[in-house]
Amino acid sequence: MRYISTRGQAPALPFEEAMLTGLARDGGLYVPETIPQMRAEEIRALQGVSYEEAAFRVMRPFVGDRFDDEVFAGLIDKAYAGFGHTARAPLVQLAPNHFLLELFHGPTLAFKDFAMQLIGQLFQHELSRRGERVTIVGATSGDTGSAAIEAFRGLDAVDVFILFPHGRVSDVQRRQMTTPSEANVHALALAGDFDECQARLKDMFNHFEFRDQVRLAGVNSINWARVLAQVVYYFTAATSLGAPDRKISFTVPTGNFGDVFAGYVAKRMGLPIDRLVVATNQNDILHRCLSSGAYRKGSVLPSISPSMDIQVSSNFERALFDAYDRDGRAIAQLMDELKAGGFSVSQGALEALRADFDSGRVSEDDTLATIRQAHDTMGELLCPHSAVGVRVAEDHRDPAVPMITLATAHPAKFPDAVERASGLRPPLPNRMADLYERPERMTQVANDLAALETLIEERRSQ
Ligand SMILES: *Cc1c(COP(=O)(O)O)cnc(C)c1O
Repeated sequence: MRYISTRGQAPALPFEEAMLTGLARDGGLYVPETIPQMRAEEIRALQGVSYEEAAFRVMRPFVGDRFDDEVFAGLIDKAYAGFGHTARAPLVQLAPNHFLLELFHGPTLAFKDFAMQLIGQLFQHELSRRGERVTIVGATSGDTGSAAIEAFRGLDAVDVFILFPHGRVSDVQRRQMTTPSEANVHALALAGDFDECQARLKDMFNHFEFRDQVRLAGVNSINWARVLAQVVYYFTAATSLGAPDRKISFTVPTGNFGDVFAGYVAKRMGLPIDRLVVATNQNDILHRCLSSGAYRKGSVLPSISPSMDIQVSSNFERALFDAYDRDGRAIAQLMDELKAGGFSVSQGALEALRADFDSGRVSEDDTLATIRQAHDTMGELLCPHSAVGVRVAEDHRDPAVPMITLATAHPAKFPDAVERASGLRPPLPNRMADLYERPERMTQVANDLAALETLIEERRSQ
């Protein structure tokens, strides 16, 4: 299995190289050259197996022969051993034909643990086999960074630097990044918003001299291995409701489009997904684009669902690549136009996108109201991101097709918003109840590329 860039200019790479590299050298994102297919009986055979076994079967065709079966299965087991629920991704019922997929039982209480814990194991295995080290730099609106730090802390083949927007992440998110004491962990509070963190990260990747010197590796949701790990729970959730013998729809609280794109990959592999519904908060560039075809940057409005406070959704490029019949040149052109403010999706590409994706946007007030209502009428305390999903799902529901909404974080990760909405302050699970007592360690940094690069060169272990 080889991976090609969405901008058509970078060399094709095998799985492990695409994983270690992250962003392609032409600025594009890696996607598999072809999507492996699962037959109906293979999908049916996932009913009732453990999450780890399902993960092995779904991901195996994508990883090539770099990992032998036993090693790959062992890495998967290790990745999910620290989860607080034996089902890993349990499904609960909210209403007739509406289900919630709880993706928040990992070590940092958000769905990003599913991908990040696995990537930590894959990186460590591949790098120690080669006798190499890398410098991981990530940008986060909160959850990616805490999940990355948790996944890489103490691993000897990596240094991990995480850029987060100073003052714009929740206390729990910040503490999850600043309290690990391992020497290979560096939490950097940048004076700027998430899009600026992401822009500096891209600048570092496009500065090849720096990139090669520190052996830069990326684990943002642009990393194909992360998307791949997220494909698994679409299969486990849909098969537990009767797929492949019936169609299932999903609603996905969306920021960078990584999670919902994983659903799209599952569908391309053969899982009978009816609709993939993109749910956004007031930062609604994706909803506007899917409604009108215009992909135009606004400025980020801070919200109570901060992990979705994004104006440029990096992974959307992967969906556009398919919608433009995998024409890398067309994508490179659109991304140039985006630098100047935005672009219009062609009519044909927009129709292709709409064949899979619906979308909806939820205001701040409606998010709070949904947290309150879901608690009163469904017995579920939702985090604000999950509430955005539930609200959009309720608006898009076809009564004949089961809807699964992804619950992307635990309510205790965003206790202020949850308390404001419901009057209840959700407690942290026991295993992390002392988070507020642990000492914090972070470095404040200017929104300045040269200064960031110097800091990383100095701090990483040689
Ligand atoms: C990252 C995140 C999202 C958005 O996921 P994308 O893959 O960026 O679309 C939604 N909710 C929570 C809690 C997150 O951490």
